[in-house]
Amino acid sequence: MPTNDPEREKQYNSKAYKDARRAVLRRDGGYCMYCGKPGNTVDHIIPLNKGGAVADVENMVTACKPCNSSKQDKLLIRLAYRNPKYFPKP
Ligand SMILES: [Zn+2]
Repeated sequence: MPTNDPEREKQYNSKAYKDARRAVLRRDGGYCMYCGKPGNTVDHIIPLNKGGAVADVENMVTACKPCNSSKQDKLLIRLAYRNPKYFPKP
């Protein structure tokens, strides 16, 4: 995952992140949680620059490359549609 932030780079290279990433891909069955197509990248639900945890499986979902790279404000709506468990009904 390319980034210009050396600190971020270190986190992505950490064992904690790699383990979490593997667990997320397995949990989600290798399917993108946004569009349902096969995906092999992991996206953070709460972006790291908004305070999301880098290696927390609860903050991570499987995403395909197109969805991961075209994240927009619609993210939460799309995510809730695909995977309501992250957004339990009140
Ligand atoms: Zn997708």
